[in-house]
Amino acid sequence: MMKAIPSMSTGVRQSYSRKPNLIHVRAAGHDMLRLVNRRILLSIISDRQPISRADIAKISGLNKATVSTITSEMLKDRCIIEDGLGRTTPIGGKPPTPLRLNALRFGLFGVDIRAEETILALSDFNNRLIARLSFETANDARTFLSKIGKEITKLRAKHNDFIEFAGIGVSLPGLVDSHRGEFLISVVLPWRDVPVVQLLEKATRLPVVIDNSARCAALAEIWHSKAQYANVRNLLYVGVSTGLACGVVIDGGLYRGGNNTAGQFGHIPIDLDGPECRCGQRGCWDLYASDKATLARYHKLRGASGKRKTTMRKLMELVDSGDPAATEAVRETARYLGIGITGLINGLDPEVVVIGGEITKAWGLIEPIIIEETKRSLLDPRAYGVAIRRSAFEVRPSLKGALTLIQKDLLSVPHVG
Ligand SMILES: [Zn+2]
Repeated sequence: MMKAIPSMSTGVRQSYSRKPNLIHVRAAGHDMLRLVNRRILLSIISDRQPISRADIAKISGLNKATVSTITSEMLKDRCIIEDGLGRTTPIGGKPPTPLRLNALRFGLFGVDIRAEETILALSDFNNRLIARLSFETANDARTFLSKIGKEITKLRAKHNDFIEFAGIGVSLPGLVDSHRGEFLISVVLPWRDVPVVQLLEKATRLPVVIDNSARCAALAEIWHSKAQYANVRNLLYVGVSTGLACGVVIDGGLYRGGNNTAGQFGHIPIDLDGPECRCGQRGCWDLYASDKATLARYHKLRGASGKRKTTMRKLMELVDSGDPAATEAVRETARYLGIGITGLINGLDPEVVVIGGEITKAWGLIEPIIIEETKRSLLDPRAYGVAIRRSAFEVRPSLKGALTLIQKDLLSVPHVG
């Protein structure tokens, strides 16, 4: 079983929304009401810092005395700090002392495991990246996770100015049962039935939360782009990397499905006579629109001279320099992305589709092709208005999501009832 995030958790299932449900809050007990108010204030400070107590009261709708009591508590346990002490106002009155999060209150670890490369990152409570290490992902899961555990222990010792380490968020490329804390299976990584949470918690003695990489990325999009997506309730994230995976936000929350493994749209066949996929089917969307497909297409276009294998990173540099084979390979992938995304828009009716991955570096090239494909086949003309955007995070949205798995438990308003 997963442990709760320390210090600020109640063990209550939390929604991703930062908005309180006031009806539920009224029905909650005193302790829960206190926690909800505290999270509302923390969330406001996190979004708008530095901010005065008077402004917090205005935005939260709580009275000044309540704000003053809660902020005093939060100052005492060092979650927040006073900013800009010593300033005076022109009329000589008592200056408002703005508040901000105490960046050193919590250190957060994020581990983004991909087929080839794993990134381990440490961020502070204010989302600032403190350390970033890269490792070649190994086929032996247990040995590899033990190594990651040791690296986390080293980072904790090195950055001992943090008051507390809140936990470790892990993003994994395949089927993940986040409730049981297990990585089940993947077509890009030969790991099977790995109790990731149990292994990492044992190695580090920190709480561990895991999820699938596309769901992590979708979570990062809705959490960190809240100003842009303030009115968005339904979002589809399409992660393009070695494989193809999707994260779906429905009615404001991540959709997980009955077995907690939803989002594997990459393995919907789009050509029954197509090549065999590692999942056992033929002609999966993944085989036409993943980075692996793009690279294979490029090497084929290059013929004999393209035998030396390249990486997606290098391919995008070639596109940037106007290389015809690289450009054509990416154009073709964009068409297949458009075909698959159109089917998903028809099925899910999202307000926004976000695409992430190395290929989005050529956004100017792929965006019009994807939009053209969707307009060709959308069933509902009103869906022409769906916004198709690239991820807000140029580098590794899933890493940002892994860190967000921990951050959301520190800042989100508990869902009561
Ligand atoms: Zn497949």
